[in-house]
Amino acid sequence: KGKGHLELQEVPEPVIEEDGVKIKVKACGICSTDLLIYHDRIDYRAPVILGHEISGIVVEVGSRVKGIKVGDRVAADSHGYYCNTCGFCQRGLPRYCLERTMVGRDVNGGFAEYFATKASYITVLGDRIDLVSGAMTQPLFKTTHCLIEHCGIKAGTKVVVLGSESTSLLALMIAKAAGATVYLVDFFETDQHKLARELGADEIMLIDQGGVKEQVMDLTGGLGVACVIECSGQKEGVALGVKLLEKTGRLLLQSHGYAETPVDLKYIVANGIEIIGASGTTWTAKQKALELMSSQKIQVRKLVSRVLPLTSWEEGFALMEENASASIILDPSRSDDNN
Ligand SMILES: [Zn+2]
Ligand SMILES: [Zn+2]
Repeated sequence: KGKGHLELQEVPEPVIEEDGVKIKVKACGICSTDLLIYHDRIDYRAPVILGHEISGIVVEVGSRVKGIKVGDRVAADSHGYYCNTCGFCQRGLPRYCLERTMVGRDVNGGFAEYFATKASYITVLGDRIDLVSGAMTQPLFKTTHCLIEHCGIKAGTKVVVLGSESTSLLALMIAKAAGATVYLVDFFETDQHKLARELGADEIMLIDQGGVKEQVMDLTGGLGVACVIECSGQKEGVALGVKLLEKTGRLLLQSHGYAETPVDLKYIVANGIEIIGASGTTWTAKQKALELMSSQKIQVRKLVSRVLPLTSWEEGFALMEENASASIILDPSRSDDNN
């Protein structure tokens, strides 16, 4: 545990159970959760292999597995386990299962050559989705659920996305694919803004230049936007986000990194604002996201700037921390030589 206690080690290959599958990992995204574990800022069960944005090729299936075969190209859910019997599981929300464990945090994850999980936690990608994009399905499924099913974003909805990390750009893509108007608000100019424009951001506004609220009000006839997707993890982002909403607007919180944040609760009540914590996904959101990917309506591959071998994990983590790249993927099947 603790900074400096993350290292690359030789470990035995995972063994599967009769309802399990073993995957040769071809891509595993570095997520902010991995960085939080790296800095010991959230709980986890050490020793554990990190990485929960996993795709790869099935190399072994258990005797009771149906519908998945060796050679299938798949992505894995981030569930280490859910019970299927508690009220949340029964409601189709295993993310909130009372006994849930998480891949790459409680049980071994995908920063390894092989990864084993239950067959029911696997999504078959088909052959129109590449494996690097496949590693993005975990955050994509979650973002699709939150934006479309929670916030009700659809054609004509006006949305502010706050921040320019990978989750912001995913939110931008999904909202644009749904036909929404999207204003990207960020603290200062970053390299990601060029990509954000390419992905269809209708406006980009910078907090350090001032006047963001006035601009948003101008663009919305003085009403504010229906939805703010806060991805920056900064309390200033939350405070500003609330003020950009129209009455009855929805503030979606996407980061796991918020420090204690003062919010003007009287303002929330007076304006009927809803604050939503983003987590989990549903079967319907997954189908929607897979359809968007297969049909090329969204191209999540564009968010990936580097694919590195596992031995370069420190470089990958450092790049993520500098926010120098939208998304960094580690490919444990690659050796150093063809870097
Ligand atoms: Zn994650
Ligand atoms: Zn459960």
